[in-house]
Amino acid sequence: MNIHEYQAKGILKSYGVTIQEGIVADTPEKAVEAAKQLNKDTGTEWYVIKAQIHAGGRGKGKVKETDSNGVVLAKSLDDVGPKSKAILGGTLVTHQTGPEGKKVSKVLIAQDVYYPGDSEPKEYYLSILLDRAKGCNVIMASTEGGMDIETVAEETPEKIVKEWIDPAVGLQGFQARKVAFALGLEGDAFKGMMKFIFSLYKAYEATDSSQFEINPVLKTSDNKILAVDAKVNIDDSALYRHKDIAEMRDISEEDPLEVEAAESGLNYVKLDGNVGCMVNGAGLAMATMDIIKLSGGEPANFLDVGGGANAQTVEAGFRIILKDPNVKAILINIFGGIVRCDRVANGVVEAYKSIGDIPVPIIVRLQGTNAEEGAKIIDESGLKVVSAVVLKDAAERVKEVLA
Ligand code: GDP
Ligand code: MN
Repeated sequence: MNIHEYQAKGILKSYGVTIQEGIVADTPEKAVEAAKQLNKDTGTEWYVIKAQIHAGGRGKGKVKETDSNGVVLAKSLDDVGPKSKAILGGTLVTHQTGPEGKKVSKVLIAQDVYYPGDSEPKEYYLSILLDRAKGCNVIMASTEGGMDIETVAEETPEKIVKEWIDPAVGLQGFQARKVAFALGLEGDAFKGMMKFIFSLYKAYEATDSSQFEINPVLKTSDNKILAVDAKVNIDDSALYRHKDIAEMRDISEEDPLEVEAAESGLNYVKLDGNVGCMVNGAGLAMATMDIIKLSGGEPANFLDVGGGANAQTVEAGFRIILKDPNVKAILINIFGGIVRCDRVANGVVEAYKSIGDIPVPIIVRLQGTNAEEGAKIIDESGLKVVSAVVLKDAAERVKEVLA
């Protein structure tokens, strides 16, 4: 689960990570109030206004309606109202949102921490994530803060340092020192970074996160180390032990079809293709997606209806797939292991009747227990459902209906 920057910073702060302070607001008036409060708390007179959406690239992104950037500076209290107004309620398009953009309903009013001083502020990149191949967490850091880490990895991979954390002993002092040293820090900034890394790692572990990305981490002109941005991803499977974090979920940021599917107990991931698929079992779903690709289509989704598929789950699956306007055909591929094929076939027929006229061709492949009875039910139903017996047949049928 992803959370907003302001929520992520709240969590970081509670673990002792030093952050760019800020207050969230959902109207221009509250934004001004937030700025006043911030001024009292921190003495800040310059502010930065940051759109809160679950996507990066806000600084360079544009609000469609007003052409404002998603992160803007306000050099006086009078600036805060109008500049917040130009972001709130707008649609922010960044390189991560796709051209349709994301609606902004909150802004974070934060202290401008890039204040002028004897030396220039310096931005770094720091992240902690799970390295699945190595089976342990890895800290990644770079002197190239503020840039997309993908770009840095491609163009100047030598500027990224990595420290893998042995789960048996945890983060060691020498590892944090190695990272701080690689960032070229010394003196107070070096010490600040050590503390920053340790607190960040503690927060990462304690919240069962799978990714923390702090880009940029800032060294201010007076050598403080601060998290200016925070992208936090929490492991969904661990949310049951973090009720407070689970409550931070913002459903409006998630794909509506995925939300609906989760409510029906379906495992659905929306993709960009044209062939909807409904399968039982994740492995079979992956194989089915391969088959769709081989036959010249592109999967429109991943949908695992689970082992106990019945008429209700099949119907819910159908409805969700049909809401995707890109779907040109539906392939149902069920292996009757626990669930019998005739039951699934009846489910398909019932769902078909209950939804009414389904405007796209449906190919059903049932294999396993009572497969023949299942195929018979489909064939005799009088509905525009094509049944296939082997997977290769199913692929051929997909090819035909897309032609
Ligand atoms: P992102 O674009 O979604 O990654 O949002 P960030 O929170 O990283 O902000 C984008 C950029 O805005 C940063 O890389 C900074 O260069 C700039 N920025 C953020 N906070 C401040 C601030 O307090 N003062 C100034 N001058 N720039 C800031
Ligand atoms: Mn950022």
